[in-house]
Amino acid sequence: MNWEENVRRVVPYVAGEQPKDAGVIKLNTNECPYPPAPGVSRLAREFETADLRLYPALDASPLSDALAERYGVSRDRVFVGVGSDDVLSMIFLTFFNSHRPVLFADVTYSFYDVWASVYHIPYRQIPLLPDFHQDIPAYLSGEAGGIVIANPNAPTGLSEDLPDIERILQANPGCVVVVDEAYVDFGGTSALPLLETYDNLLVVQTFSKSRSMAGMRIGFCIGSEKLIGYLNDVKFSINSYTMNRPSLVCGAEAVRDEEYFQKTVAKVVSTRERAKKELTALGFSFPDSDANFLFATHREIPAQDLYEYLRDRKIYVRHWNKPRIENYLRITVGTDEQMEALYAALRERIAKA
Ligand SMILES: *Cc1c(COP(=O)(O)O)cnc(C)c1O
Repeated sequence: MNWEENVRRVVPYVAGEQPKDAGVIKLNTNECPYPPAPGVSRLAREFETADLRLYPALDASPLSDALAERYGVSRDRVFVGVGSDDVLSMIFLTFFNSHRPVLFADVTYSFYDVWASVYHIPYRQIPLLPDFHQDIPAYLSGEAGGIVIANPNAPTGLSEDLPDIERILQANPGCVVVVDEAYVDFGGTSALPLLETYDNLLVVQTFSKSRSMAGMRIGFCIGSEKLIGYLNDVKFSINSYTMNRPSLVCGAEAVRDEEYFQKTVAKVVSTRERAKKELTALGFSFPDSDANFLFATHREIPAQDLYEYLRDRKIYVRHWNKPRIENYLRITVGTDEQMEALYAALRERIAKA
C-alpha cells in the first residue's frame, strides 16, 4: 500500500495573477478600482486589538445584522463566509449530496467544477448558447441534483432575465438552486424577490467587487431559514468561527454606507459604458456586459497576442486557453485613467497590425 493512493486529488482552481511590482495596471481579477467606504478605513485603523483576545460572535453580528437590515430579511436568513468562495463551497458541500448531477454552464465561474471535484459531486456542464446566453430550457428537466447560475455570468458579463430564473425554480422544486450574484450591483436584476416564493433558492453575493473589499474576504448568501439552518450545521461542523472580528466590523460599516456604495458603483458603470464605445471603435466586439468587466474579442489580433503585449506594458487582463473562449480577453473596468492607458496601448498595437 502506498499512502499516495489515498490522497484526495484535485486539479485546483487557478486565480488571476496578483503581480507584486508597482506601477502595474491591474485589470485582471475584477476588483473595484476605488477604495472601500471611508468608515471602513477608519475602523480598520482604529480597530481595538484587545477584542482579538475573544472569539468572534457566533451569529456573525454585526455583519449579519447589517446585511439583514439592508436586504430586508431576518438575520436567520443570512449566512456569511470568507468571501463568496467560502459560501459557495459550503453550499456545494451541504446541498449537493445526491447521485444526480449538479448543472452549471460550460463557460462560467471556473470554481464550480473544482468544488464539485473536490467533494466528489457529479456534475454536468450545460453549453452556453452561441450568443453566450444561458440555455434555459436545458435546466428545466427537473432531474438535476442542484443548479448553479452566475447572473450576471462570468466571464461573459451577460445577465438573464428574472422570469427565466423563475422558470428554472418552477421546474426544480426537488433541488437547491443557487444564483451567484457576484456582479449584480453593476447591472442585471437580483433574484432576491423570488425568495418569498421559493424556499429552495439561495442568492449569493460578495463584498469583493462592488464593495471594494476583496482583500477582506467577505461573502454572504440569503435564503429560507431552513436552508440557512442546514448551512450553519455544516459550517459549525467544520469551523464555527469563519469570520474574524475586524471583517465583521468593517463589513457592517461598508453595508451601512449606502451612499458611498451607490456612488462607487455608478462610477464603475459609467466607465464601463464608455469602455464599450472605445473598444468598439478599436475593433473589439463583446457581449453586452452588466458586470464590472468586458469580455472582448478583436476582429484581427488574437487574444493571446494582445494579452502578452499588454502584460509587457504592465497592463494585466485575463485570458484563458480554453475551448470557446481562447480568443477573448476579460478586461476589468478600472478608473478612467487606467482605461485611458489601456486604450492608448491597444491603439498603438492595432496601428501596427
Ligand atoms: C469573484 C467571484 C466570486 C467570489 O468572490 P469572493 O472574493 O470569494 O467573494 C464568486 N462568483 C463569481 C462569479 C465571481 O466572479
